[in-house]
Amino acid sequence: MNKENYRIQKAYSPQARFKNQNVEPEFWKKKKLEELSKKEWELLCDGCGKCCLNKLECKGKIYFTNAHCRFLNPKNCLCRIYQNRFDVVKDCRDIDIKAIREKPRWLPKTCAYLLLDNGQDLPSWHPLITGKASSVIEAGISLKHRPVVSESEVEDYEDYIVDWEDL
Ligand code: SF4
Ligand code: SF4
Repeated sequence: MNKENYRIQKAYSPQARFKNQNVEPEFWKKKKLEELSKKEWELLCDGCGKCCLNKLECKGKIYFTNAHCRFLNPKNCLCRIYQNRFDVVKDCRDIDIKAIREKPRWLPKTCAYLLLDNGQDLPSWHPLITGKASSVIEAGISLKHRPVVSESEVEDYEDYIVDWEDL
């Protein structure tokens, strides 16, 4: 599959992910990341969208930019081609254990997988705590309401480096 035959998914409600979860309450406190089911793993993603920002790597350090993947919808911070993202975007990374532990770190500091892997709990604004997908937006953690641009508008990523404290 290539860029010419991808399909943009219909918009869906982010809240749908948190309805009828049918998972053990506070499963993230009872299991290691390696023991989670696929459903539990997916629920841990807070939907912040920050892993879809382009980064530069220089001398072993990662620099985040405010230029997001062209397939990220900045209105809801969700991927518009989630089901076939790896076929379409060659450098879209699967968020697995290996990615979480990779150095230098390229996931944002607030990423739930990273926090749990470092022995921390989920933050109070996480949708699994609040029951609301929108709480990540209301807490100012997601990309929504931030000055972001699509990578399709970018010529030189060095002009877009940001040092937001939650990256
Ligand atoms: S940074 Fe982590 S929590 Fe945020 S969207 Fe990416 S995988 Fe999900
Ligand atoms: S294709 Fe990958 S990097 Fe792009 S928006 Fe989707 S999940 Fe993010």
